[in-house]
Amino acid sequence: MTETLDIQITKTTHSRLEETDFDNLPFGRTFSDHMLLADYADGEWKNFRIVPYGEIKMSPAISSLHYGQAFFEGLKAYKHADGKVVIFRPDKNAIRFNKSAERLCMPELPTDIFVQSIAALVDIDRDWIPTKANHSLYIRPCMFATDPYLGVQPSATYTYVVLTGPVGPYFSKTLRVKIETHYTRAAEGGMGYAKAAGNYASSMLPGKKAVEEGFDQLIWTDGQTHEYIEEMGAANAMFMLDGKLITASTRDTILDGVTRDTVIQLAKEWGIPVEERRVSVAEIIEGAQKGTLTDAFGAGTAATIAPVGSISYNGEEYFLCDPKERVFSQKVFKTLDAIKYGTEADTHGWNYVV
Ligand code: PMP
Repeated sequence: MTETLDIQITKTTHSRLEETDFDNLPFGRTFSDHMLLADYADGEWKNFRIVPYGEIKMSPAISSLHYGQAFFEGLKAYKHADGKVVIFRPDKNAIRFNKSAERLCMPELPTDIFVQSIAALVDIDRDWIPTKANHSLYIRPCMFATDPYLGVQPSATYTYVVLTGPVGPYFSKTLRVKIETHYTRAAEGGMGYAKAAGNYASSMLPGKKAVEEGFDQLIWTDGQTHEYIEEMGAANAMFMLDGKLITASTRDTILDGVTRDTVIQLAKEWGIPVEERRVSVAEIIEGAQKGTLTDAFGAGTAATIAPVGSISYNGEEYFLCDPKERVFSQKVFKTLDAIKYGTEADTHGWNYVV
């Protein structure tokens, strides 16, 4: 049963909308006027409130700071030409939000409360949603432990916070990527399938080294053998090999991406064979050498469909065909855009209308 969420609203007395440069929106730096907060204590979520975006007070002893009991989500809202505002597949993010919560010993939030809280915040700041092509409102829910206690054990109190901010394209070019054979993003039995804050902390050093070597991104491989491809940066890695769409099957080490799921559904509807399985580095490199690897891209909410221009492995760089000639990723990018921006009918019910 859907219960209506009671949210206390305090609006800002000074909107920053007029002073924001919508022609210059680097990812994650601009925040809308309001944020949503809620507290978990005594076994329940309470005090849902929308307040002006700003700093929050916290004890320096909270366990999220010391032990990383924290996770987040990422999704987007779009404005259609007729002014309609939609959020893309928030129910999928709600499910993943709770998978992360469970893995990190944190309290779950009912799906409808998650969706309603986000919709209420997007509604209040709907004027912040950019209308330009490839622009949207990025939504960042997050939960963190707030017990001021240094014992290594699950906190009894938590904060749920949702921020939003207008964004343009995340990547503006074709990516030069390297296959990472030393570092690992996630281990079997670990928490790679959760959007745990710590997963992103551990990815920073390998990511920084890859950038210093001249790459834009890295492709993660499995921690045991480094022979199988897992993900690409903070996106799922997808390939068109021998006419089949191939991507790593979901398991402990793989984040179950909403974009990944959407691309797979579209591919199946278009009659393209899809294989969700272990993807070996060897078959991808061989495909690049033989020309049977006709498409490679990262799929994610922030990244959208990010084409890979070349893949480097053990010091050799393998170039793929021009992204403009790639039939599948071009089609999938255009179709996704058309559904999100409302120029094509949403026959799947993916758009949640605010
Ligand atoms: N993998 C990782 C590690 C990510 O951080 C993301 C971004 N959330 C994705 C994949 C893509 O997931 P989604 O399509 O849901 O954004």
